[in-house]
Amino acid sequence: MSSLYARHELIPGWKQQQLADAKVVIVGMGALGNEVARILAMSGIGSLLLCDPDRIEESNLSRTVLFRQSDIGNFKVEVAATALREFNPSISVETRSLPLMHGVGLGEIRDADLVISCLDSRLARLQLTGRCQLVKAPYIDGGTHLWGGEVRPYLDPDGPCYGCSLTPEERSIADVPWSCLETRPESSMGAAVPSSALVGTWMGTIAVRFLMKMTYPAGALSIDSSRGNTVVIPRVQDPECPLHTSIDFVTKISVSSQDNMQKLRSAIPKSAVPLVWEPVQKLVECLHCDFQEIRWGLSSVDLCPQCQNYLRPRTTIELDDVPDNVKLAELGIPPREILTVKTINGWHWFELE
Ligand SMILES: [Zn+2]
Ligand SMILES: [Zn+2]
Repeated sequence: MSSLYARHELIPGWKQQQLADAKVVIVGMGALGNEVARILAMSGIGSLLLCDPDRIEESNLSRTVLFRQSDIGNFKVEVAATALREFNPSISVETRSLPLMHGVGLGEIRDADLVISCLDSRLARLQLTGRCQLVKAPYIDGGTHLWGGEVRPYLDPDGPCYGCSLTPEERSIADVPWSCLETRPESSMGAAVPSSALVGTWMGTIAVRFLMKMTYPAGALSIDSSRGNTVVIPRVQDPECPLHTSIDFVTKISVSSQDNMQKLRSAIPKSAVPLVWEPVQKLVECLHCDFQEIRWGLSSVDLCPQCQNYLRPRTTIELDDVPDNVKLAELGIPPREILTVKTINGWHWFELE
């Protein structure tokens, strides 16, 4: 028998089989994601699903244990998966090189034992929080400061969430149209490996203990390395926080995200309207001439073929007039997504296979 875990077995209460049976989704494969993924893989977590749309840049390499110079230009999740399988060949690692909303379906989030949020913007954190809350999935969020950071375990699906710690104005960032945010270049912040390693190690530690049903901190950790402090900050649930509704009574259908609209239509009630969680492009139009074209799919930056000005995308969340031959994945719908469907009798939820 493999002696890989021989030292784990000497730890009272360590349950290797429970870790081997666990499925964990890690969203964000930057500095923090690298640290947490390494710890989970070496601990023997049986199944990891990594989601991040970005490719490796040289500036990542000062903080990312899984990436090398020769990996620059490749997808972070692909390179990370290869490195993790080398650390521990007995685990399975799946990858999605897409943004969260298009990469991981609600059914996958619900069936995970734990979701780890290694994201770097409030909007992305709110999106992940919203999805975890919809299917009552436990998650751990982390973020770094210059010399420390925060770890926020949200392991009780009926307890406070990330949104509870924000003001209504901070939460409303999610209401800003996606396309406006996308075109704004992200400002860079200082970051170094001591802080991401410190915060990532805390996240990995809490994750492993949670998965083995051991105790974990009851609040958020505030880590300050200039003082050598890690303080537990209690949290309260905000009764005004809108992120506490969840989906129930899901109907499973034999339609996958690789199938087309026609197949989806045949699996849901007649005249029902399927909705997506993230607005999808329906048409593009030129503000300088009369050019307009129906173009279903994810928004891209294109020039007007008539006058060479930028085209403006028009989006929708309703899929009632998508042509039959368009694939669900082309609309940004992730595998095993749970779609909301509007019928004459109210709302229903249908889960893709
Ligand atoms: Zn909340
Ligand atoms: Zn034009």
